[in-house]
Amino acid sequence: MERISIEIGLRSPVSIAIRRGVDNVLRTLDFIPGTTWRGAFAKAYINKYGQDTDFNKIFVEGGAWFSDLLPDRSRVIPYTAFSCKYAHGFLDDDAMEKPHGVLDILCDTVLDESFGTQLQPANCPADDCHDTTLENVRGFYKRDGTKYTHVTAQKSLLGHTAIDPRTQTAKESQFYVLETLDAGQRFHGDIIVQDRALSRKLQQAIPEIETILVGSDLTRGLGRASLRIDPSVTALEDTTLQKRIENFNARFADAAENLFFFSLTLESRTIVLDKYLRYKSNIEPEDLQQAACPDPILGHCHLIRAWNSTSSVDGWNSKARFPKLSETAIDRGAVFVYAIKAEHTTTDQLCRALQQIEEKGIGERREEGFGRVTVCQQFHWEGDNK
Ligand SMILES: [Zn+2]
Repeated sequence: MERISIEIGLRSPVSIAIRRGVDNVLRTLDFIPGTTWRGAFAKAYINKYGQDTDFNKIFVEGGAWFSDLLPDRSRVIPYTAFSCKYAHGFLDDDAMEKPHGVLDILCDTVLDESFGTQLQPANCPADDCHDTTLENVRGFYKRDGTKYTHVTAQKSLLGHTAIDPRTQTAKESQFYVLETLDAGQRFHGDIIVQDRALSRKLQQAIPEIETILVGSDLTRGLGRASLRIDPSVTALEDTTLQKRIENFNARFADAAENLFFFSLTLESRTIVLDKYLRYKSNIEPEDLQQAACPDPILGHCHLIRAWNSTSSVDGWNSKARFPKLSETAIDRGAVFVYAIKAEHTTTDQLCRALQQIEEKGIGERREEGFGRVTVCQQFHWEGDNK
């Protein structure tokens, strides 16, 4: 398995519709989903090389998995991140009023709910602000050493008039506003490739293709983007999985003996089906067991806490010129915490099983960027107020 880091630079504004709708303000997503740029890249690939055998391996047989691309090398803020209602944001954010910082409530919540440690309710940690309750922080963050900052994709609104296809003139009462991601921004992610030959082919094709067209309204000059291999390859987390599991468990050492804990944080939307093919909102031990192909250890763990939500995933099949079937995904940023009795496993065994899940992801449509997860993410256990 190889990982190719990718950077897409927007040469013109780009609009990626949130969902099909009848509203006259069409909102854009603030990231480029794997499924969107995979389709754009496939089209550019065919124009350049035709539908050769590598095309089938990459795009049809799922030999390459295209991640979501997020703005400016950022990551998704987990659902367990909370901040002051009045001075919202990371301590190092550039804001009018100095933010009071971001707390991750995962470990304290689990300790309180599962072991009755009766911790104080999470209020703002800043001096003179202790009575203020906290609220969710959403969006993207970037970490530089111990410094955390918010990252926001820049957007604008463009006014448009729909064109009548028969007369080629402006259609009456058809004014609409299109939200776009501004030109000049960069988005980052990767392609996971299953075999080395395919990886070589992609590393040759990406610089040769160089430009792709993403999103909607391409005929209006939107959607031009440069595609390149990102030379600054960095691991998402600073430490090894083993160290992360140890550090995470250190937070529970006083409360629980003979138990291992681990968390799963969704880096992208995740589609999980039960045996009757219904969409799930939780990732349960049986799903972990299946994802680690099949690992008996994870079948012994228990889901003890979840911070999650679901939303529908729409799409457009440009080959068939038809909307894709709407699906329900667990939102990115969702967090699940599990416990497993020490008698069922050792740290080594647990680490091996969880490594598989981090590498291969969970659930459906992983080639389109769904199902990326991080185990015991540093964000949850490192420091207090960020
Ligand atoms: Zn405060």
